[in-house]
Amino acid sequence: MTETLINAAERALRDIDSAGTRKHERLIVSPQSTRIVTRIAENGELEDSSGSTREVLNFCANNYLGLADDARLINAAKEALDTHGFGMASVRFICGTQDLHRQLERRLADYLAVEDSIVFPSCFDANGGVFEPLLDENDGIISDSLNHASIIDGVRLCKAQRFRYANNDMEELERQLIAAKACKRRLIVTDGVFSMDGIMADLPSICDLAEKHDASVMVDDCHATGFVGERGAGTPEFHGVEGRVQILTGTFGKALGGGSGGYVAGPRPIVELLRQRARPYLFSNAVAPPICAAALAAIDIAEASGELRASLRDNAAQFRRGMSDVGFDLVAGDHPIIPVMIGDAALAARLADDLLARGIYVVAFSYPVVPQGQARIRTQMSAAHTPEQIEQAVRAFEEAGRAHGLIP
Ligand SMILES: *Cc1c(COP(=O)(O)O)cnc(C)c1O
Repeated sequence: MTETLINAAERALRDIDSAGTRKHERLIVSPQSTRIVTRIAENGELEDSSGSTREVLNFCANNYLGLADDARLINAAKEALDTHGFGMASVRFICGTQDLHRQLERRLADYLAVEDSIVFPSCFDANGGVFEPLLDENDGIISDSLNHASIIDGVRLCKAQRFRYANNDMEELERQLIAAKACKRRLIVTDGVFSMDGIMADLPSICDLAEKHDASVMVDDCHATGFVGERGAGTPEFHGVEGRVQILTGTFGKALGGGSGGYVAGPRPIVELLRQRARPYLFSNAVAPPICAAALAAIDIAEASGELRASLRDNAAQFRRGMSDVGFDLVAGDHPIIPVMIGDAALAARLADDLLARGIYVVAFSYPVVPQGQARIRTQMSAAHTPEQIEQAVRAFEEAGRAHGLIP
């Protein structure tokens, strides 16, 4: 008997279940914020509306500046609904480009101190579309092994030769640059901040090596734009290597309001070629007007918001200090992504469940998202958390950690 697609899907789901890696989504019935209302269905199913609701503190959103429910963004979106309508019902090049789209692209380029930018439906699409128009089989892409899935897919979609180096390993990067010597052009690609660790790419060394071996540099700054660096312009600003990074990609789906949309920013000819050739740009609907207007408001706030960045830094420092004091093992650094290392996958999952029961919403990550035996709870701080909320989270971790024998 031939197996139908449905049989095959059922079998794959059973495999996922027996590996214990099924992801269960929790329903949130409030806006995204540091304090959210979740609905936990009795049978654990998403569709069940019978469950009771509960208020919990959220420590797993990418809401770094706390803008996801900010009144200024909401009002900008509402206003754009009135002035520019709901949707574009077109790709950009047919009849989908409003003044708002170009305003956003120009404003973003100014903020990032580059020539121009091009907005995509998501950063996944930006990374999916950026390589193929720029590089062909004569070229080489040298990619960090921990780069985001969308970079891996984008690289697969283009014909360039592929070289990979171990995470942030500058010696291996140099070996791969030498291996790529015969390529016509070389592009080094890295996340600015690696999302599972909160560790920053060593951009100064990467730029040195790029210049030594005649390569360009592309940085995906999704976990940095808006809050890393003095003006929040991201990891190139933080490391003082602006002008030495040729291509930036990023998202409006994290610090800059958390709605949706992504971008490629950089030299005008590159941006213009992507407008002509990048497939996710050419063949996918224009980003909706209210999203563009809110993203514009988010950039204004981010640029002017030294205080938000200071609160975010203080919150991250407070959480790191508190957790270290009670004996947890953290990945060192000062990014608001703060992984609490657990090791065992099942234990990490139980700890996350226990924390939710204590009113702290966090998520456990295990293999294959992180290496085998390095399961962790990835916490993320927001500028909108209060010191009391951070303290509450540390106390909950302390109690749950003791209950599970993780700390003395
Ligand atoms: C979140 C993320 C993306 C995807 O961004 P979207 O706009 O949500 O598609 C791409 N790269 C990195 C490094 C990310 O963290």
